[in-house]
Amino acid sequence: MHYIYFDNNATSPLDSKVDEFLREFQRNLFGNASSIHWAGREAKKQLNIAREKISSLFNASESEIIFTSGGTESINTALLGVFESGSIGKNEIITTPVEHHATLRTLQFLESKGKKSIYLKVDSKGRIDLEDFQSKINSNTALVSMMWANNEIGNLNPIEKISEICREKNILFHCDAVQAVGKIRIDLKKVPIDLLSFSAHKFHGPKGVGGLYLREGVKISPLHFGGSQEKSLRAGTQDVLRIHGMAIALEESLKNLEENSARICYLRNQLEEGILSRIEGSSVQGDSENRLFNTSNILFENIDGETLLLNLDLEGIAVSAGAACESGSIDPSHVILALGKSSQEAKSSIRFSLSKLNTEEEVQRVIEVLPKIIQRLQNKFL
Ligand code: PLP
Repeated sequence: MHYIYFDNNATSPLDSKVDEFLREFQRNLFGNASSIHWAGREAKKQLNIAREKISSLFNASESEIIFTSGGTESINTALLGVFESGSIGKNEIITTPVEHHATLRTLQFLESKGKKSIYLKVDSKGRIDLEDFQSKINSNTALVSMMWANNEIGNLNPIEKISEICREKNILFHCDAVQAVGKIRIDLKKVPIDLLSFSAHKFHGPKGVGGLYLREGVKISPLHFGGSQEKSLRAGTQDVLRIHGMAIALEESLKNLEENSARICYLRNQLEEGILSRIEGSSVQGDSENRLFNTSNILFENIDGETLLLNLDLEGIAVSAGAACESGSIDPSHVILALGKSSQEAKSSIRFSLSKLNTEEEVQRVIEVLPKIIQRLQNKFL
């Protein structure tokens, strides 16, 4: 069977250069970057190279990058760290209801400690309203946390504007850029974000490694205590091999970004048009005018998304129903619910997320297979 992987927003396969690097160096690059002998010095050298590469790709300084175990840890560190630092005497956070659970559940925890989250409304396409955002800011607003790109529907938020408004009003701004990094060029000298979270496995890097950009002067407290790694903000021996792998992955993603994104967008559009024209009652969810070039979330009327996912899986086609971390769960997607859909409708959508490794033949195969599965499932429900 030819396996087709259309679930790149959940995680993406390794870039071939990253794969080569990990294979070549996994035996030799084992030193502890804090050791002063040859093995440690080599690890430290590679760690520095990685930090230099990543910071320059963000147009940031090396001292502003903290390596973590991935997106979830970066988001937790940003949100909890800001309040733990005690440097802001305010207690309100503005966010959206369509954030990843890494944000939503951290905010729930903060709410249990007396902080107040204000969830902006989103419209039926998942868009926020800038005027509504501005009207929610008050003298008690400590922090704004908003994702750059939505993992389920691909929507892109107006992060440049949001960050400028926060800067003007002297409010800290954290951006969950886990789905944007590697897909969008981000210049942190131009976009005044204070804290930005990213994760390597979303851009063809290794799993279990990510980072937090922390603008010079922004104070946070660490979540981990121990050694003085990462300016004492993330204690624990760094996984230099994977951190370096992440730097290569980011470099490779941004190297041919325009060319790759145009090709992926073409494939995504082919897929979408093929599905919408063949399957009655199918509709795109989210803001099709302003979203990630690789993502398509399609709702199939009266079809159970999970059953559809399993039937596609039998054909070797991997997609997702709901948030990646929730795969296997039958909960309706909180993102689709926030668009105003019913619980049953929210259980009827499937996310296709493509990458540079996908081909036109794969798209054609899905367009061929999917209508047959839908027909079979609909007949079953007659
Ligand atoms: N934020 C978004 C938007 C995501 O899509 C994900 C992963 O699905 C995360 C955060 C969590 O990242 P990680 O899996 O690296 O912890």
